[in-house]
Amino acid sequence: MNLILLGPPGSGKGTQGERLQEDFRLPYYATGDILRAAVAEGSELGRAAQEYMDRGDLVPDEVIIGVIAERVERPEAADGFILDGFPRTVGQAEALAAEMEGLGRAITVAVLIDVDDEEVVRRLGGRRTCAKSGHVFHVDFDPPKHEGVCDVCGSRLIVRDDDRPEVIRHRLETYREKTMPLVDYYEELGVLKRVDGELEPEEVGNRIRALLATLRMEEEL
Ligand code: AMP
Repeated sequence: MNLILLGPPGSGKGTQGERLQEDFRLPYYATGDILRAAVAEGSELGRAAQEYMDRGDLVPDEVIIGVIAERVERPEAADGFILDGFPRTVGQAEALAAEMEGLGRAITVAVLIDVDDEEVVRRLGGRRTCAKSGHVFHVDFDPPKHEGVCDVCGSRLIVRDDDRPEVIRHRLETYREKTMPLVDYYEELGVLKRVDGELEPEEVGNRIRALLATLRMEEEL
């Protein structure tokens, strides 16, 4: 099960990816998380990525492709993986396809979590992230017990630089221009599945699990 989660920022890919990871016991690789950790560590990757991330731009393909290639080759990913936030350009999708071909494998399914722009702005604009643990809250949908303080570790909650309103708009433009073409790309390969991302997270998760179960059954037939 080599699974890709596609969708605009704020569509819930992270929420769903973490649940699927538990249900299917597959490694979950989220490039946004990997890059944020690299920035926090001050590693070479982090230094290469930070200025792009703060602006809401994509980091260059050559910076990110190697990061994912290394992960899909890991023994833990031999039975499959869940990718969140990668690929985000046709160049990345082609690099991933070549990498998979080299391993004698292919993408099983690309799940598009569909959410419209207005909802994205509402979701990301209210997002508050713990500066220390990375735990995510929302001022309306999932408020912390005490305003501005993380329930989990008591640290300060912040607005991620790229969750500022002007940056959100830019991330949406980038998504439309660079990532939306992947919807056609995976549709032509016959592996695209769409899910309505505006439903309750629980229901979105149920629908993704149902479609993956159907795929597994078809494979076994
Ligand atoms: P995310 O948490 O997935 O929204 O990612 C946060 C930021 O990390 C993005 O706005 C990009 O700057 C960068 N990023 C994450 N994944 C990729 C990718 N596949 N290609 C280029 N940049 C990425």
